Amino acid sequence: MNTARILIIEDEKKISDVITAYLEKEGFTVDTAQTGDDGLRKLMDCPDLVILDLMLPDMDGEDICRIIRGSSDVPVIMLTAKSREHDKLNGFSAGADDYIVKPFSPKELVARVRARLRKTLTGNSSTLSFNQGRLLIDTLRHEAILEQRPLTLTPTEFKLLLAFVNNIQRPLSREQLIAIVQGYDFSGTDRTVDAHIKNLRRKIEKDAGSPEFIRTVYGVGYVFIGIPDEK
Ligand code: CA
Repeated sequence: MNTARILIIEDEKKISDVITAYLEKEGFTVDTAQTGDDGLRKLMDCPDLVILDLMLPDMDGEDICRIIRGSSDVPVIMLTAKSREHDKLNGFSAGADDYIVKPFSPKELVARVRARLRKTLTGNSSTLSFNQGRLLIDTLRHEAILEQRPLTLTPTEFKLLLAFVNNIQRPLSREQLIAIVQGYDFSGTDRTVDAHIKNLRRKIEKDAGSPEFIRTVYGVGYVFIGIPDEK
């Protein structure tokens, strides 16, 4: 079984290091980001859970949480030094699933992470569904299914697809797409992005002339136009 992947968005390195150490000891895979911007970029890797600090240097944790909620159901546990009740409420209204106040015991945080992941797994929210179930994407198993037929996607194509579905209706430039898929065998030029997208489209579009999922935005890049189904 794959270990769950946790993304920690926290600028205080000491805290981030402690949480990382505890989570890794418990068998989780951990990725960290020190800024909101970096955190949102790492969200493209589809972590199973996000630990999000409320106070970051470049962005407000609540705003980050709202952005995450615009495109993803990933569980979010907010960290904050604030203990005032209205901050807690703001966190929940921004879409956080849980809230933990600093200073906290790492053991308690690990327990909350486990509880939250259990809920997610039983709810099977790792599957995203688009266009009345025509396209299904299992973010945990890295599988995509078009009209009940599993697609054979390369790791780069799957990563691009995830980037798109995490940014529904938001045009992505070729530069952004290169940044997102870096780390895979990918030489980052505009033309290679176009080649990968062309291959991806050939696999997921019925009619390349009137795409259902990935549309070209001239002078910009590409945008995902699939319509998410109600859960
Ligand atoms: Ca902070």
